[in-house]
Amino acid sequence: MVDLKRFALPPGIPRVLLGNYPTPLERLPRFAASLGGPKLWIKRDDISPLALGGNKTRKLEFLLGEALALGADTILTVGAPQSNHCRQTAAAAARSGLRCVLVLGGAGRGAYTANLLLDDMLGAEVHFATQESRDEKLAEVRRSLEADGRKVYFIPYGGASPVGEVGFVYAMAELQADFAEQDSQADWIVAASASGGMQAGLLVGARWVGYPGRILGISVEAKRDPLLRAILPLAEATAQRLGCAWTFGGSEVLVNDEYLGQGYGIPAKGDIEAMRLLASTEGIVTDPVYTGRALAGLVDLIRNGFFRPDESVLFWHTGGVPALYAYLEDLRSWGPIPWEAH
Ligand SMILES: *Cc1c(COP(=O)(O)O)cnc(C)c1O
Repeated sequence: MVDLKRFALPPGIPRVLLGNYPTPLERLPRFAASLGGPKLWIKRDDISPLALGGNKTRKLEFLLGEALALGADTILTVGAPQSNHCRQTAAAAARSGLRCVLVLGGAGRGAYTANLLLDDMLGAEVHFATQESRDEKLAEVRRSLEADGRKVYFIPYGGASPVGEVGFVYAMAELQADFAEQDSQADWIVAASASGGMQAGLLVGARWVGYPGRILGISVEAKRDPLLRAILPLAEATAQRLGCAWTFGGSEVLVNDEYLGQGYGIPAKGDIEAMRLLASTEGIVTDPVYTGRALAGLVDLIRNGFFRPDESVLFWHTGGVPALYAYLEDLRSWGPIPWEAH
């Protein structure tokens, strides 16, 4: 048995409990059989309990912990109109008795559905910007909050900061305990990587617990080099928070950027095929922006023999499913709907 206490985080790192960990670790026998490749596992952060789940809850436990310790009364963060991070931040703030202000920028305002609808329901105050004016808008909103006497705690895009990524160091310890219980292990961990924060935290966690396998991030947004440039300093700063002066080399950080298609948030045919395959073989739903794209990468890598058949691969389900309903047109364009075909 892995002794989780051995991996206890140093005292003095504030945390609020928002999830219900460990999240389930499950096998994917039918999905694996349909691909004919390695043994497959899935880690279900999609069903962590805070406001429809997702990986940001792990970061928010530490971010909100720090916000409360600093005496903040308002959380300010930023993202795309269909940001899962913003939805989970709104929920975390509500549960902690804090106000939440969101600056949402990107293509269009986004329809009043999916995550944007939930932001509103969760009581967040929403400001819109364009992609280009987002930082300017953020500064303006912050000035006006502070002029009103509010104590603002700012969370960067994707919650990517060493404070939050400590949550993924702990997640690696949790995963090792899960595997010990099942007397198993994964040779590979595959996950969607966007800001790179989660991957940075997992890398630190891997060294913290002595995980012997490899971690592969499938980029959903950035090309490989800029993503690596984000991950490396974040990993080092996260380790620093745990009192470890660790450095990470580019060769340790595995990022695949071959599945970006037409770009972030534009579902490709392969993404939707992979989503349908997992759903129809295992009853597990993924999202078209993050997990569907990472899954498309996993499926393609398996089909191309990237993993040995005797290896085992863990797919980290990072959530995002509420965004499904914002992508109905893309999902429809995949192919004829059976009962409309004749
Ligand atoms: C934010 C997010 C990710 C990526 O996490 P990063 O830490 O930004 O790399 C992956 N999947 C989903 C569903 C997300 O919301």
